[in-house]
Amino acid sequence: MLEASRLLTYKAAAMKDAMDAGAGVSTKDFKQAAAIAKLYSTESAVTATRIATQIFGGYGFMEEYPVVRFYRDAKVLEIGEGTSEIQRMLIARGLGLPVE
Ligand SMILES: Cc1cc2nc3c(=O)[nH]c(=O)nc-3n(C[C@H](O)[C@H](O)[C@H](O)COP(=O)(O)OP(=O)(O)OC[C@H]3O[C@@H](n4cnc5c(N)ncnc54)[C@H](O)[C@@H]3O)c2cc1C
Repeated sequence: MLEASRLLTYKAAAMKDAMDAGAGVSTKDFKQAAAIAKLYSTESAVTATRIATQIFGGYGFMEEYPVVRFYRDAKVLEIGEGTSEIQRMLIARGLGLPVE
């Protein structure tokens, strides 16, 4: 998940650079890549920290340990700068699927 998140993010960043340099990447294609990277990376972070919380058991829920903070910090990434639901809508629209 980490490697895939990293590669999707690097791909979107490289597309932004290419777009800005006028190297044949359209805004639409960049936005699609960015939405995919954002959706996958943030949901992966939540999955990873949820599993970490479970592994730590009760300690994973106590403020004295950092795991609960990692889980909460990951969760907000699914909300800020376009929620997962909105990213899914953008991706679907980019694929030409009917979206309300
Ligand atoms: C810690 C934190 C920091 C923030 N910092 C900033 C900041 O610096 N700048 C800034 O501009 N904003 C910031 N925000 C706001 C953030 O961008 C919004 O919270 C986010 O865009 C979601 O908007 P909302 O809270 O109004 O939820 P709503 O838009 O009310 O959405 C609530 C839920 O409904 C879902 N939903 C909404 N519309 C649809 C739809 N059409 N189809 C399906 N599902 C839908 C959403 O995905 C979400 O799950 C921050 C939020 C937090 C929590």
